[in-house]
Amino acid sequence: MAAERELLEVDVLFVGAGPANLSGAIHLAGLIKKHNESAEASGADKFDEPFIAVIEKGNEPGHHQLSGAVLDPRSLTELIPDHIEKGCPIEGIVFKDDLYFLTEKGKARVPFTPPPLRNHGSYVVSLGELTKWLAGIAEEEGVEIFSTFPGAEILEEEGRITGVRTADKGIDKDGNEKPNYQPGADFIAPVTVLGEGSRGSLAKELFAAHPELIEGRNPMVYGVGIKEVWKTKPGRIAPGHVIHTMGHPLKPDTYGGGWIYGMKDDMVSVGLVVGLDYKDPFLDPHACFQNYKTHPLLRSILEGGSMERYGAKSMPLGGYYSMPQLAMDGLLIVGDSASMLNPMRLKGIHTAIQSGMFAAEAILAAMIAGDYSRSGLSKYEEAIRGSWIEQELRSSRNFHQGFSNGLWTGLLNTGLQIATGGRGLKDRMGSEPGHSRMETIAEYYGGKREKPPEEAFDGDYTFDKLTALFKSGTEHVEDQPAHLKIVDPSICVTRCVEEYGNPCERFCPANVYVWEQEADGGKGKVRIDFANCVHCKTCDIMDPYQVIQWTTPEGGGGPVYEEM
Ligand code: SF4
Repeated sequence: MAAERELLEVDVLFVGAGPANLSGAIHLAGLIKKHNESAEASGADKFDEPFIAVIEKGNEPGHHQLSGAVLDPRSLTELIPDHIEKGCPIEGIVFKDDLYFLTEKGKARVPFTPPPLRNHGSYVVSLGELTKWLAGIAEEEGVEIFSTFPGAEILEEEGRITGVRTADKGIDKDGNEKPNYQPGADFIAPVTVLGEGSRGSLAKELFAAHPELIEGRNPMVYGVGIKEVWKTKPGRIAPGHVIHTMGHPLKPDTYGGGWIYGMKDDMVSVGLVVGLDYKDPFLDPHACFQNYKTHPLLRSILEGGSMERYGAKSMPLGGYYSMPQLAMDGLLIVGDSASMLNPMRLKGIHTAIQSGMFAAEAILAAMIAGDYSRSGLSKYEEAIRGSWIEQELRSSRNFHQGFSNGLWTGLLNTGLQIATGGRGLKDRMGSEPGHSRMETIAEYYGGKREKPPEEAFDGDYTFDKLTALFKSGTEHVEDQPAHLKIVDPSICVTRCVEEYGNPCERFCPANVYVWEQEADGGKGKVRIDFANCVHCKTCDIMDPYQVIQWTTPEGGGGPVYEEM
């Protein structure tokens, strides 16, 4: 007998167990409790025990979370005032900020740290650990978390979002049902909160189906952060010492920069953000990061230590002018899914948490009114628009766009922006989707060029992608259809190989795309080792022809990030 699709009716559905949604779920559970207490005291109607569900594609909350990360604690303090007493995992409280400009071998310390990069009192955290801790609190509050349930499809009826269908389990690589086949469940809710994080596949589907949500906004643009956590020799960098760098190893036409954050127990978070709107078709963000670690500043910290963790994730950089409309009938969009990261501060966890809380407050109002239409949920957009989130994002509204003509104009624009409360060189600055800025080999190098040879890594201090990937804990069931779809593979072997030299081989930090040249000099093809995928979404963002589509694999697949 064919397995039947399960239907779960819940009161509120949060899609993605990241900081925005978990904070929203915790806050909502608390608000409903308070509402019921005061209703009981006044004899008014109470709500029944609410069914608040969070669905998550990873094995556990936190496994797919990766960030630098320095957390501005303002929203966390509002959500959980006694978070320290409750064991919030903090790696260090920031006591020192340094900013360096790097050349290949040299460094110049910027004598003063610009206000957006001053972090005194903020927390160095592992986003994965913070997420796990938030998930524990949510469960204590009665929230149900469904791990290994990736949202695969948005359910919609007559323009109203009614929930999400999760991915099927037990399909083999040819699309046949295996003995453990289980069709995805339909989670039906009067309100769904989309908090999938950066470049969510459902958000992408939603914006394509409802272009009015992004009409008049700048396109969302992204960067990719490649990160390692190292165990260093004792005393190399104190917990809470935060270092940011500009310059080397990125060329001035490429947006990005590096970080070094001191953690507890002689651990250190090192990473490099590369703007996914770079021009050079031969650029390899992973190789850039490995190269970054060979700089004397990094070597002085990492030398003699060992690399313990590796991972990569995209992040939204478009900020204020890329924010979509935040609500429609039956739906709210929170956190990175709504481009709420402040690119100038390189921070988005604090805005994500606050957006989840505002969503919870709007949902309570909608529950009381029994109206989950866009207008019934309007408190959310109003709260964001009148809050410090809007103020903060407005003050960096032209930040990333200022770098579209290179580092020096970007820095000039940043200085002016700080002085003018976000205006910069001109207001408003537009942007282009990142993939459209990649130049062909002929455009960038002025003629035909062979693909660069693979860089050599020493295996001790610098690592090739597969060696590094081993430290990400990534696994997928191999006998399933590839979750990375190349919609038109003929482009790879005709135009892309000639025009861009198959940049997927380089921009993927997990060696998923491998060019196989036919022995007889034939056309060749791109092999997709999808089991390596760390779900960073870089390929979906940066593929110059936009023929690569990231879709959800079977639940539980992907990285297992610990302390990331
Ligand atoms: Fe990232 Fe795409 Fe590579 Fe997966 S296949 S690791 S999403 S670039």
